[in-house]
Amino acid sequence: MKISKNLVPLWNYPKKCPYTMKPTRIVVHNTANDAPAANEIAYMRRNSNTVSFHYAVDDKEVVQGIEENRCSWNAGDGSKGKGNREGISIEICYSKSGGEKFIKAEQNAVELIVDILKRYGWGIDRVTKHQDYNGKYCPHRTLDLGWDRFIKMIEEKLNDVPVAKKKTVTQIAKEVIQGKWGNGVTRRTKLKKAGYNYNEVQAKVNELLNKKPASKPAKKSVTVIAKEVIQGKWGNGAERKKRLTEAGYNYEEVQKKVNQLLK
Ligand SMILES: [Zn+2]
Repeated sequence: MKISKNLVPLWNYPKKCPYTMKPTRIVVHNTANDAPAANEIAYMRRNSNTVSFHYAVDDKEVVQGIEENRCSWNAGDGSKGKGNREGISIEICYSKSGGEKFIKAEQNAVELIVDILKRYGWGIDRVTKHQDYNGKYCPHRTLDLGWDRFIKMIEEKLNDVPVAKKKTVTQIAKEVIQGKWGNGVTRRTKLKKAGYNYNEVQAKVNELLNKKPASKPAKKSVTVIAKEVIQGKWGNGAERKKRLTEAGYNYEEVQKKVNQLLK
């Protein structure tokens, strides 16, 4: 995804981003407008309103207007509010009319948010919304569609394991056997979330668990053995019993068959 910068000019810092900032969170907004990201930022960076934000995201790109180490007047929680003074603010475009462009803009926002979370080593709890700071119903369309849904989109992307980092099915199967992936539904969900094929892993688990030490030669039928006994191949008396038992045959059964054949 393309990210470009069109930063607030220095002369407008007093209005837009007067303080330095150590970010602790992300604040999500909807523009309630139908303009692309470039226009939102271009307008914001030059006007004299004490309204500002770090990023605008549309269906095609992300445009940054303020560096992440400066505050933005986005959350309506005052000059000392955590939303304003510690939040990296993101405006999702095209929320007024919604539709395909907005859906795509939201997906791009998810990518941007995941990137920020990873850069700062943050968890999903760092993703907040404008509403949390002053009660304003923003991000309005994202809320309409479901905030939990949006958080889930972020979580799914955040937990995506890059293909290159994936372990082999055998490694995962061994971890499953060691109990690292839980049981039943939990195991299935966790494996799926981590990008593994549950059925494939489970098949390998079963294979590993059922592996027999060294496969013995196929057993002969009782009749075949009885004939060998008659031919003297298994010795007599106690020796015969011992050898047959050690080879995995039921001595009594073989002996019975021997008697039958000799009748
Ligand atoms: Zn807002």
